[in-house]
Amino acid sequence: MLETVDLAPRDAILGLTVAFNEDPRSEKVNLSVGVYQDEHGKTPTLGSVVEAENILAAGPSNKAYLPISGSPGYSEVVQELVFGPEYQTAGHLAGAHTPGGTGGLRVAADFLHANFPQATVWLSEPTWPNHPSVFAAAEVPTKTYPYFDQQTNSLAFEQMLAAIEKMPAGDVILLHGCCHNPTGIDPTAKEWQQIVQAVAKRGLLPFLDFAYQGFGDGLDEDAAGVREFRNAGGDLIVCSSFSKNFGLYRERVGALSIACATNDAATAVQSQINRAIRANYSNPPAHGAAIVETILRDQNLRETWEKELSAMRDRINGMRQQLVDSLEAKGVPGDYSFITRQRGMFSFSGLTKDQVEQLREQYAIYIVGSGRINVAGLTPANIDRVTEAIGAVVS
Ligand code: PLP
Repeated sequence: MLETVDLAPRDAILGLTVAFNEDPRSEKVNLSVGVYQDEHGKTPTLGSVVEAENILAAGPSNKAYLPISGSPGYSEVVQELVFGPEYQTAGHLAGAHTPGGTGGLRVAADFLHANFPQATVWLSEPTWPNHPSVFAAAEVPTKTYPYFDQQTNSLAFEQMLAAIEKMPAGDVILLHGCCHNPTGIDPTAKEWQQIVQAVAKRGLLPFLDFAYQGFGDGLDEDAAGVREFRNAGGDLIVCSSFSKNFGLYRERVGALSIACATNDAATAVQSQINRAIRANYSNPPAHGAAIVETILRDQNLRETWEKELSAMRDRINGMRQQLVDSLEAKGVPGDYSFITRQRGMFSFSGLTKDQVEQLREQYAIYIVGSGRINVAGLTPANIDRVTEAIGAVVS
């Protein structure tokens, strides 16, 4: 029977890393996968994480199951991080600690499928390629709304608003909380206000994927959209990932935070979230969430973490500037200044599929086919080679 199984296509992004690892050229550069790298091209384990692990290792060991929605204390610290110090005014909250942001998205998708089977989830065009896959796996229908204006390399705001105004009431709109993946383009504070008003007016359920809090402009600054929704007081689903901002990629740590209008609604939503989790992975892995909770509860550790997060953010924003400066200095045709206005790890470079292919084949520089560059993969040691190669393929 199993010989009838077809080979699945390689994951578009992770597949590129497999190809990168197999590439024997020593000068190769990987700007494809969404992992932070320091100025030496290494993905560091944060000092705050090491300290938290030491504290946990010195404490009592407990390998019994966690509750279905994870450690209750964890959901509380996460809600404070997401909604701010006044998080208790965000409404009546349900929450779960999930295996990464992807685990949270899948639990939310299962929850939507079970409770709102008629609802369509609207995704930005473009979006993280795993979004459509996760919703399809949970049999949740998706459609797209315009997001990116290729002509101006900016947010297609008017088209986006016009699309929201036509979405059927009861549908779900998925927005990137900050550091939009793949474009790096976020709404301004004023645009968030208009989005929140339009979403409320249409009777849509807002769902914010918040995978990069702290990677754009700061922990609170990046929560501008989430908090605008919180202040408006309607229902809200937020899915956090701590893969990037705590560097806990392989520990698989994330969270769902759901604001509801009444206590009864929050209790019912929590029960349905728990049901989705129970049928999926039963209860979450403990270690990553214990690290996050330890750091967020300890003032010194939290300060250390915030400094480490700022350093990652500053390095990325610094490399954005260096990328633009270096392209300009080499006389590469085109205006690349838009790259410094983008936020987070990614930049939509405007490189075509053909140019991306040439970069890989001729220069061992790996970029996703859409032209999305992981700016955090640039280092002082490789930036000149990268901009020289870009110059060669675009000229
Ligand atoms: N959402 C977006 C927009 C992402 O870019 C990512 C990771 O790349 C995730 C969610 C999921 O992150 P995690 O690795 O925690 O599952």
